Amino acid sequence: MRTRFVNLRRLILALTLGTALAIVAGSLLAIYEVQRQELIKNTLGANRVYAAKLAEITESFLKSAQDQVAFSATRVPAILHQEKTLQHEVERLHKQTNAFNSVAVVNAAGIIIATSPTNLGVRGKQISGPGSRQSIEARRPLITDPFISPTGRYLISISHPLFDDAGHYKGYISGAIYLHDENTLYDVLGQHNHQDGSYMYVVDRHKTLIYHPETKRIGETINGNEVVDRVTAGQNGAMEVINSRNIAMLAGFAPVTRSGWGVVAQRPITSTLSTLDSLRGDVFARIAPLVIGIMLLSWIAAWWISRPLRELADIAGDLNAPGAPQALHGVGSWYFEAEQLKGALQIGVGRIQAQMDQLRTDSHTDPLTSLLNRRGLTKALKTLEQNGGGVAVLALDIDHFKRVNDSFGHAVGDLVIQQLADLLRANARKHDLLCRNGGEEFLVLLPDTGLEQAILIAERLRHDVEHHTFPGVGTVTISIGVARQPDHGRTLELTLHAADEALYQAKHRGRNQAVQAG
Ligand code: GH3
Ligand code: MG
Ligand code: MG
Repeated sequence: MRTRFVNLRRLILALTLGTALAIVAGSLLAIYEVQRQELIKNTLGANRVYAAKLAEITESFLKSAQDQVAFSATRVPAILHQEKTLQHEVERLHKQTNAFNSVAVVNAAGIIIATSPTNLGVRGKQISGPGSRQSIEARRPLITDPFISPTGRYLISISHPLFDDAGHYKGYISGAIYLHDENTLYDVLGQHNHQDGSYMYVVDRHKTLIYHPETKRIGETINGNEVVDRVTAGQNGAMEVINSRNIAMLAGFAPVTRSGWGVVAQRPITSTLSTLDSLRGDVFARIAPLVIGIMLLSWIAAWWISRPLRELADIAGDLNAPGAPQALHGVGSWYFEAEQLKGALQIGVGRIQAQMDQLRTDSHTDPLTSLLNRRGLTKALKTLEQNGGGVAVLALDIDHFKRVNDSFGHAVGDLVIQQLADLLRANARKHDLLCRNGGEEFLVLLPDTGLEQAILIAERLRHDVEHHTFPGVGTVTISIGVARQPDHGRTLELTLHAADEALYQAKHRGRNQAVQAG
């Protein structure tokens, strides 16, 4: 019955542990989430700043490159036909800084008239390609879109128109930046540290990659990328984005207004969050002893809280057990409910025990004399038999009791029986057992008593009765049969029988005497 139910201790334990674990798990999750958001926010912010910085550097690089070309453009118209001087100027522009991979002068007819380095092999040739046409058509300072030069290089060019003093258009001078080669722009953009998976790239206004750490991707046009869309629209900012490799990135972006380019700096979310994993390990290591401590405390608390109720429940299972009241008393009910239950059980057990006692007395004693009845005797015999040791038995019967009844009435007869019982009680020792065997017959059981002593006791009893005055009746005598276990019977039953025989003998021999069994 009981095993079908979960016990209180386990319930409390489960509840406390469940709560503790839920709180710990919840806290860990919350910490993780907060830290995650913080890391993402910080990385987005850092990339935004970084992209803006790179855009600014690129901007100033372009400005300085344009200034250099513009400066040359003021000198070139005057020396356009002085081949050597022109070559010298072109080389100066080329070699003065590392900004350009090559420099060329193109006349108004679109013929390349000077280059540095000279070994490009395009001098004297008609320009072709969209970039060159763009430059010649623009007649204003220009940063071209990337294009493939006649020498097969992917480049952008920074050009400046040439006008003579009269203001006639004389062609343009341009510095080329090879997008796959080393140059100042490449150095500036390539400074970025790629160790943690972060990188940056630059797109032109048509979303074509003009710088990317994977150089083979340069020239690729990026469509469907929100960051690229926004940065080419002139916006700056930072956001989460999935890159073309399907990797989630935290990107910062900023436009280079001079050229319409966009700079994007980004870092994979996974590398950003990788610190969280070790952090989580640290947090776990610190929190584990706490959790174990809580578990231990919960276990003790569960035991402590459930103990009074468990003890009460155990006692409640058998309220009429002999030790129940003492056990109840010993229950340490240290809180209200347990104390109330204990109180209620104590009242209950008191009643039950009282009822049991009553029942026991009722069923085992004779109502007239309050001595043991037959049933009480049977029980007493069992106890004595378990005890071992010799037991002497006196079988008593009032002599000529019929006459008492006949002469004085049944009620007076009862009084005589009661008074004889009182006499027996007065003579009995602590461990002697007195029993009304029915009618005016009694049994006296004397534990640990020798035969001679038993006879003495019987004789004294007989004497006392004979000399007692029963009010309204006068004197009454008794006959006694004496026997002893094991002397006269192996069992008490047989001994009782022997005592009965002796009693019969006493009657036979004339009454008012004690006779020892034969
Ligand atoms: P004996 O000396 O041979 O024992 O003679 P007796 O008259 O005592 O004979 P017996 O023991 O056979 O008779 C018992 C009588 O006791 C019979 C009955 O009327 C009477 N008696 C039995 N029980 C009670 C009782 O509870 N109250 C009263 N008043 N009389 C009882
Ligand atoms: Mg009798
Ligand atoms: Mg009798």
